[in-house]
Amino acid sequence: MIDVPVEGRDFPGSLPELRAWFRSDADCLDYLDWLRWPDGFVCPWCADVGDWSTVPGMHRCSGCGRRVSVGAGTVFDRTRTPLAVWFEAAWLMMASKQGVSALTLQRVTELGSYQSAWMMTHKLRSVMHQSGRDRLSGRVEMDETFIGGDRHGTFGRGAAGKTLVAGAIERPGTGFGRARLQIIPDASSASLADSIRTHVSHGATLITDGWPPYPRAAAASGVSLEVHNVKASGQPAHLSLPGVHLLFSLSKRVLEGTYQGSVQPEHLQAYLDEFVFRFNRRKSHTRGLLFFRLLESAVAGPPAPYTSVAVIHRMPKDVPVPPRTPQALPRTLAGTPLDRPWRTPQAA
Ligand SMILES: [Zn+2]
Repeated sequence: MIDVPVEGRDFPGSLPELRAWFRSDADCLDYLDWLRWPDGFVCPWCADVGDWSTVPGMHRCSGCGRRVSVGAGTVFDRTRTPLAVWFEAAWLMMASKQGVSALTLQRVTELGSYQSAWMMTHKLRSVMHQSGRDRLSGRVEMDETFIGGDRHGTFGRGAAGKTLVAGAIERPGTGFGRARLQIIPDASSASLADSIRTHVSHGATLITDGWPPYPRAAAASGVSLEVHNVKASGQPAHLSLPGVHLLFSLSKRVLEGTYQGSVQPEHLQAYLDEFVFRFNRRKSHTRGLLFFRLLESAVAGPPAPYTSVAVIHRMPKDVPVPPRTPQALPRTLAGTPLDRPWRTPQAA
């Protein structure tokens, strides 16, 4: 992992720069290879560092003889879409503060089918929850909200057509820290305790409203509790728990705006993961760094099972199947080639 990536060397600073860097599958594979093994190939099977292969993105371990592909097991595995198009999709998803819909992506990258664009956004989303999994710590606000159902009737669950989502956000001395959003089955102490154990460090202080299941949930998950009793204080919830309510309103705005309230309940968690990925990096001085972290997550491990199976098998059926032959690079990706700046030796 590269701790302090540098714009212009480790990741592109703009869309024209991205297009100049990534002209071919070989360029993209080399970049992914470098992201996964910045200090050179290490065999994931036997930890040998010898490599007999000279094919881009492919290694043959000199220790155990296994072939190791940088794309195998990742979202790029067996794709028929040029990797430069994937990179542009990743860039567009990260460059916009509100995210980008598959329809917009299809239009901008001149992809042949909506289905291809939809698949790419969902696969890229599927790696976002793997990034930055350190649990929240210190003082952490937590609350629940219902998402969806009322206006469009397209997402939600049960009779009310709504999905229950738990939110948590760090409250350092000033402002807000990192956040999490997770669908929960109900607001019982058992469900809340599960959520707390997954997202909040042992020993943290949880700030909640007076919902009765919280004391038991907090005790069961090793956090202390600070109750801001909304009713007793006479303050509306968005004032007594401002962080988590800001989180809820911003995420709902993206779901209603960018995605027009069309997110299906089975996909909602992936969209929440995307929102949180972006939210937790909102202080990044450059959007290119988000692109870098996204691709880094994409090659760090296999895609999440729930998205790679459930979500991708539920893609819309009324759109044409993409061609089996590799597609030509869209003309939008034309630009002046550059020679792999990420391989430039670092200045001392
Ligand atoms: Zn090996």
